Amino acid sequence: MTVHGGGEFMLKCTACGREYSLRKPYQRCECGEPLELELFKSVPGIGRRVWERFSGFFPFELKPELSLGEGDTPLIKAKKLSKELGVKLYLKNETTNPTWSFKDRGTYLGIHRALQLGFKKIGTVSTGNMAASVAAYGARAELETYILVSSTIAKEKLKALAPYGARVIKVHGDYGELYYKSLEIGQRKDIYFINSDDPFRIEGYKSISFEIIEEITPDYVVIPTSSGGLFRGIVKGFLELKESGLIEKLPRFVAVQAEGCSPICKAFNNGKEKIERFENPHTIAHAIENPYPPSGNAVLRLLRKLNGLCVAVRDEETLKAQEELGREGLFVQPASATGIAAIRKLREKGIIEENSRVVSILTGAGLKTLSHVEAPKVEECSLEFLEECFRW
Ligand SMILES: *Cc1c(COP(=O)(O)O)cnc(C)c1O
Ligand SMILES: [Zn+2]
Repeated sequence: MTVHGGGEFMLKCTACGREYSLRKPYQRCECGEPLELELFKSVPGIGRRVWERFSGFFPFELKPELSLGEGDTPLIKAKKLSKELGVKLYLKNETTNPTWSFKDRGTYLGIHRALQLGFKKIGTVSTGNMAASVAAYGARAELETYILVSSTIAKEKLKALAPYGARVIKVHGDYGELYYKSLEIGQRKDIYFINSDDPFRIEGYKSISFEIIEEITPDYVVIPTSSGGLFRGIVKGFLELKESGLIEKLPRFVAVQAEGCSPICKAFNNGKEKIERFENPHTIAHAIENPYPPSGNAVLRLLRKLNGLCVAVRDEETLKAQEELGREGLFVQPASATGIAAIRKLREKGIIEENSRVVSILTGAGLKTLSHVEAPKVEECSLEFLEECFRW
């Protein structure tokens, strides 16, 4: 994590520090670890969009004609959950993004990067939210778009891709390997793959931190974590705010995983330096079910360096949290509810202090994962006797 020293920006390896020029589509270091832009140092200005107000923190001028209205999402103070958990709980509602998840913030930046390098084709590897996001922004930018999905993808998720007209390819074989294979093929076939932890996707995710700090200074930020891209983006945003003198101290960052697929928490809590592939992953929180996250080691390094926390939660706890968020008026998918389950655990253990300001990132919308949701209890009544139904 180095601050930009003036002159040309470089991509730097998050592990070994090796530098790469921005003129070529480098995405990972030769050592295998992800690359990242140096820390931006700037001052915010005015503007209706976060991209305008924080324009000095982004690597290029962001074009409104490529935007679908991502970002500037609501930060909602939870009423019942705040009281119940004994904290000031704020919910960053990312379900209001154009394709109903935070992925749109990163895709928006990724599209700029692809065009900057002169690509006419883009792609991604995903089973859900990122696929829809890249397909939508590819359509917006009129780029040929390739979506590589796993052979076990649910029909419900395939259908969500239909409107955008991207080419969808179902790949049989190891899904974890597909991430690396896609980058290789992309280089040969001139396709820019905007995968989960692309360096420019990370730049887009910083906008979440900027928006939070415009409203409150949190003590904790709780982040559902799969590939590690979102976690890295939010942390980088806060580091840049601190570097720029806009905040005095960093919040404590909490990475949340599902117990049935928690390679990062497992490595962190066992004092390991590297993550290992999580065998037989199984969780209802499919959006965070990556058994071998490409930014797993990078997240581990940040957790260690910044005194972060990693919490794994059980599916029952997640489903309960999803229901509780519903009672606050917010319908999120299971992956997005894991944060609430994690906060409850950390409160029970006395790790999060009473009355702390806690932000939980509600990463994606519940309407995308209706298959596990049961219909509510329904009462029936004839029109003729409708009024009788209101007697009690
Ligand atoms: C992608 C995603 C995550 C995890 O983000 P990573 O960048 O892969 O760590 C969490 N929740 C939802 C709903 C997502 O779509
Ligand atoms: Zn390296």
